[in-house]
Amino acid sequence: MNTLKKKVCLIGAFAVGKTSLVRRYVDSLFSERYLSTVGVKIDKKLLVVRGQAMGLIIWDLHGEDEFQSVRMSYLRGASGCIYVADGTRRATLDTALMLHQRVEAAIGPTPAVLVLNKCDLEELWEVDPQTIPEYGLKDFSVLRTSAKTGQSVETAFETLAAMMLEDHS
Ligand code: GDP
Ligand code: MG
Repeated sequence: MNTLKKKVCLIGAFAVGKTSLVRRYVDSLFSERYLSTVGVKIDKKLLVVRGQAMGLIIWDLHGEDEFQSVRMSYLRGASGCIYVADGTRRATLDTALMLHQRVEAAIGPTPAVLVLNKCDLEELWEVDPQTIPEYGLKDFSVLRTSAKTGQSVETAFETLAAMMLEDHS
């Protein structure tokens, strides 16, 4: 059986937990220490979706650029995107949605999952998941995750993988 290789990009504001989500998913690790990413970090993860072997090639972009611009070289060839917001910082949701528009303007409609991360810090949350539908996210799957506890992290990647598989066939 052929492995279907798919490029996935993590997109979102500074310190929302993009690198931590990848670490949790790929290595089952979490660190409180700030993990600064230098340049682009590429990880690989194999999984099976509906009997189809898939190889996710996960791209994680270094901090500073992500606000200003998501560069075309980063997005080129992407089959899916995980937009990440930090539930404890409302503005990061607006950033994620703004970046989503920018990315789709650049590469067209692309399978996407919106992740509200840091759900282990629920008492500090500024984002009410009930308000998410107001953003008109028809084509999004929205998930609450924690890179710290691992909650819904696999689900987020698997949901995107299933969407990419559908998109592919
Ligand atoms: P990035 O800039 O989006 O890649 O964010 P990082 O993955 O580097 O995470 C930024 C900070 O948030 C780090 O101190 C992480 O330890 C912390 N962090 C990331 N995800 C979570 C989470 O789910 N829960 C908590 N409590 N902290 C998190
Ligand atoms: Mg990072």
